[in-house]
Amino acid sequence: MAEQRQGGTSIVWAARRIALTYLAVAGLWILLSDAALERLGFTGADSVLFQTLKGLFFVTVTALLLYLHVGAVLRRQSELNRTVAESRARFYSIFERSPVALIVVQDGRIEMLNAYAQMLLGPAARWHGRDIAEVFDDQDRAAAMKIILGDGNPSGTPAELVHAKNAQGEGIELELSASEQWPDIGGRLIALVDVTEQRNLERALVKTQRMEAMGVVAAGIAHDFNNLLTAMMGYVQLAAVHTNGNRAAKDLLDSAMQAGMQAGNLVRSLLTFGRAAPMQKKLMPLKEVIDGACMLIRGAMPSRIHFTYNFEAPSETLVHADAAQVRQALLNLAINARDAMPNGGELAVVVSLSPDARGVPMASVTVADTGTGISDASMQTLFEPFFTTKGDVGVGLGLPVSRGIIQDHGGDLTAASELGKGAVFTITIPIAAGPESKVEPKTASAGVLTVLVAHDKAASREILCTLLRKAGCEPIPVASGVECVDTHMRRRSNFAGAIIGIQHETQSGLYCLARIRAANDNTPVVLISDILAQEGGVSDVHTTVVTESTPEQQIVESMLTTISAHRAARQRKEQRPDY
Ligand code: ADP
Repeated sequence: MAEQRQGGTSIVWAARRIALTYLAVAGLWILLSDAALERLGFTGADSVLFQTLKGLFFVTVTALLLYLHVGAVLRRQSELNRTVAESRARFYSIFERSPVALIVVQDGRIEMLNAYAQMLLGPAARWHGRDIAEVFDDQDRAAAMKIILGDGNPSGTPAELVHAKNAQGEGIELELSASEQWPDIGGRLIALVDVTEQRNLERALVKTQRMEAMGVVAAGIAHDFNNLLTAMMGYVQLAAVHTNGNRAAKDLLDSAMQAGMQAGNLVRSLLTFGRAAPMQKKLMPLKEVIDGACMLIRGAMPSRIHFTYNFEAPSETLVHADAAQVRQALLNLAINARDAMPNGGELAVVVSLSPDARGVPMASVTVADTGTGISDASMQTLFEPFFTTKGDVGVGLGLPVSRGIIQDHGGDLTAASELGKGAVFTITIPIAAGPESKVEPKTASAGVLTVLVAHDKAASREILCTLLRKAGCEPIPVASGVECVDTHMRRRSNFAGAIIGIQHETQSGLYCLARIRAANDNTPVVLISDILAQEGGVSDVHTTVVTESTPEQQIVESMLTTISAHRAARQRKEQRPDY
């Protein structure tokens, strides 16, 4: 613009210069040429010839001067035009390609929008000539207009956060800055930065931090409570052993134990929430895990929803699983399905074996509903923490936590859905033993099983031995790592299994396990260790790792199941012909 003005001024000057030069040359010629002829003595016919030559000379000189001057001016002008066109093109390019929405406003009316602004707010044709105030939501309009019609944002002042609607009518958050009146562009330049995504992330981060803080507090309380609960349940189990056939007392103690187990699950949920709960994986039948989940699901479904459950995998299929957590994941899926079917529908859980990408058979659990389905946009963010379409009722943690649980089991959770056509969630978990493997009854039926019980807590040791005895086993209690290794060396071939819970010694449970395995002994072991459970167990297939808070009853069950699976595997091996 300034260049253009400068160009205009110099052209006027050039025209003046030409006119003055012409005036001077013509004036001097007229005044001097006749006097010069007279002085030189040209008269008569000569004078007519000279007059003609004089005129011709004058016309030639002025034509030459005009040619030089006007040519220079025109060249200059065309150069200027090119510079102006170039700088205009550069300005448009910068304006158009700016990664910020730019709007030129004249007297509060929209004059121009760059490409980004059009992408954000809609096409220029829709906005041209309209009041800029219409861009903003009602609650922010006054604040926005104060900046736009006032002095703009003096440099250094932060941009104003305002709310608006995008071209699709969705709410967006923008940072607004405005220039003061610029005569060059004939108005003001408004810059809008879309910070919707960034603000959502910030909010999600704050929410996560709040959740984490709550998690730490919850986990702290749950941890102490868990210790008390373990002791209480231990004594209930001991009391159950001393009921001397009193059925009523036994039933009451069983109920107390059930309630205690539920409290334990609740505590573990709190610990999971606080990320302090180690997985309690153990070898168990897949059917037992899913049956338990479906019982919970059935209870959570209202009558308007028709629930079906089909277990199509071989019933002997085993998995290394934390049953409570897998059930929690399945329940989350079922509750989402319920919420997606406010007017009723069908919910189907189907369990089968299906090969993964490498052809390895996996347990597959599908949870299919006939609900509202999930839009393509929601599918993109479905498993992200805090994604919810349930407003204040939803937290958006169900799916990410469920996927986390399944991934911790070496599997995956995937979703398939179309809006209006229901949704299918599929859980895949690796199976621990082939479908042909049999799980024997949990009591020791084939002869008396001798089980080494190495535990450094007297109360736990006592409870474990009592429960093993009740299950028909012969427990051999030892109280330290040294004793454990010694006893194993002496009576090795006699042990059907070992429960090892030595925490506070140099010769820890892991050390004892290493010594047993170093002696080339594959005796099934249940190792009690929070640290190892947290790390996902050990890589030894004959060892099941449980946490220190696992009830003794469960430890004994785990021991018996592991012994059964171990024996079944050995039998299969013995029956297989050697080639
Ligand atoms: P929340 O249940 O608290 O919203 P989730 O992580 O469990 O959190 O679910 C996230 C979102 O996924 C839900 O708000 C819902 O929009 C969608 N969703 C999950 N399962 C289904 C389903 N079966 N049908 C339709 N939408 C679903």
